[in-house]
Amino acid sequence: MPADPFDWITEAAAARHRAGLVRTLRPRPARETLLDLASNDYLGLAHHPEVVDGATAALRRWGAGSTGSRLVTGSTELHAELEAELAEFCGFEAALVFSSGYAANLAALTALTGPATPHRLIVSDAGNHASLIDGCRLSRAETAVVAHADPQAVAKALDGHEGRALVVTDAVFSVDGDEAPLTALAQVAADARAALLVDDAHGLGVLGPGGSGTPAAHAVAGAPGVVATVTLSKSLGSQGGAVLGPAAVIEHLVNTARTFIFDTGLNPAAAGAALTALRVLRREPALAQAVRDHARALHTGLTAAGLRAVRPDAAVVSVAAPSPEHALTWAADCRTAGLRVGCFRPPSVPDGISRLRLTARANLTAEEIDRALTVIAATAP
Ligand code: PMP
Repeated sequence: MPADPFDWITEAAAARHRAGLVRTLRPRPARETLLDLASNDYLGLAHHPEVVDGATAALRRWGAGSTGSRLVTGSTELHAELEAELAEFCGFEAALVFSSGYAANLAALTALTGPATPHRLIVSDAGNHASLIDGCRLSRAETAVVAHADPQAVAKALDGHEGRALVVTDAVFSVDGDEAPLTALAQVAADARAALLVDDAHGLGVLGPGGSGTPAAHAVAGAPGVVATVTLSKSLGSQGGAVLGPAAVIEHLVNTARTFIFDTGLNPAAAGAALTALRVLRREPALAQAVRDHARALHTGLTAAGLRAVRPDAAVVSVAAPSPEHALTWAADCRTAGLRVGCFRPPSVPDGISRLRLTARANLTAEEIDRALTVIAATAP
């Protein structure tokens, strides 16, 4: 009997099992019965009746799929409208939507450093999201990974570099929810004639005037050399991503970005939902403030209960757990008590610190925040 070529997969699964690090998919109910502090639906718009209507109208008008690549049949008026409104709202000259934030990040990193020439340098924060890390790898540019949220480390990495350079950072880090020092990073990048790429997946809809994002909050939106990426899947309650920047950069992406050219265009329903959600946010800017207030209230309560939580800059509140096993049990006990929280453990967190990851939503009530705090404190290891 020849050896099964997938023996190594079975062995890896057994090792994962022994280490207590098995990940399982658990379908959630259509209407959440648990109190949700785990989703990225920061503004509570995924089920908003207008947003659902926006998706439905787009689906009826444009069909269930976009039918092709954006350069062939996959572009509709809806895509163009969404791009124009996103760019205007976030303070950039132009925008291009992708089928995910992940694809937008891969596009931005490869297109902003390519095509291949010698002396291409990316300076990347050690806490950056996996999609940015993958984009760095895909670009095949030299990548210097620098200390987290440290503009001086970025300046040092750029010092003396001759040639194309790009500084890349999450605006709000996805695990701990802390904000990057964007003003200082923009200055350091400008001084070195480097471009700055900001992944604002967790800032759009939460930070900046009316939720217009972290680059706007730091007055770097639309500045020369600054490009941002966003996802449509968090605050906007939909699915998809976008790159925002100078029109010349967007045109460059249309012509060179492989995750744009060789991917089917964003689904019309997703575009319709995102566009409607954006309009709801513009009409109700208090939503952004509400998320921030709720995140702070969670942090204050956790700290008062003697738990170690990172002070949130946006919607994400991270609470340290003593070990991966404790984190798992803690999250399971919360679930039993009616509360859904996120649980991050190695290898998703490279620093080895396991955490409960809570996400605030604009539509949480004071009673729900109190209930969540009571459950988390009562189940704490
Ligand atoms: N960047 C960051 C910081 C994220 O947290 C995420 C989502 N997990 C992404 C990019 C990817 O976005 P999407 O889910 O739209 O692919």
